[in-house]
Amino acid sequence: MQVIGEDELADLAQAFNQMAHTLAQTEERRRQLIGDVAHELRTPLSSIRSVMEGLIDGILPVEPATFLDVQREVNRLQRLVHDLEQLSKAEAGELSMELAWVKPTTFVGTAVARLAMQYEDKGVQLHTDLPDNLPDVKVDPARMTQVMLNLLGNALQYTPSGSEVVVTARAEAQQLILTVQDSGIGLSVDSLPHVFERFYRVDKSRSRAGGGSGVGLTISRHIVEAHNGRLTVTSPGLGQGSTFTLTLPLSD
Ligand code: ADP
Repeated sequence: MQVIGEDELADLAQAFNQMAHTLAQTEERRRQLIGDVAHELRTPLSSIRSVMEGLIDGILPVEPATFLDVQREVNRLQRLVHDLEQLSKAEAGELSMELAWVKPTTFVGTAVARLAMQYEDKGVQLHTDLPDNLPDVKVDPARMTQVMLNLLGNALQYTPSGSEVVVTARAEAQQLILTVQDSGIGLSVDSLPHVFERFYRVDKSRSRAGGGSGVGLTISRHIVEAHNGRLTVTSPGLGQGSTFTLTLPLSD
């Protein structure tokens, strides 16, 4: 609608244009989401379909390994549905939060303990540098564990055997600053701004094969922001590792 003049009608026309623009953006986001979800469903579904066809035609052997392939894809679909549920709640600001005052070492420690075996299996060293006297933070410990699991899980996935991942924490200027630094594949300047977008993956086939649904960081950032914190990433470049920094306010 063309806006002429400065009277109330012009104001109305301006408001109308603004609303039309917002609606168009919402529609575009909706369209994009449906496209993304359809795309995510396609790969596991076509794998299941081809294994089933192979079984029916007698090309594939009727043995546990064949069924394990199907089970792996079904697990992937289940994880995707779970992640989508979380994502939709997170984007609507409806993630339930049970806040409590806890030591940061509690949720960091839980995540580290839960992944210790996987780090050992891959041969990636996991070091923690957590001072004893860190102040308590008011967080949902289960949600913060989830964020740490996402960051430490990614660090493990994108870091080669024989390298290391370091978790640090410090209190500074009324903030708790946690970092997860890996010495892995790193991120290019082009990828850096996108890693928190839903379904963004630098290397599509590779991370999908690793089981990631590409929404982990999107959800993590929502969780951290629901705590009035920030989650950011830096990387000196490809092949030079990445550092994720989680900042939480210390005062209530
Ligand atoms: P995914 O389930 O694919 O890991 P995430 O949302 O957790 O989804 O991460 C999004 C993308 O960001 C990943 O696919 C990967 O390309 C990139 N990424 C995340 N963490 C790291 C890391 N530590 N090093 C390099 N790339 C990373």
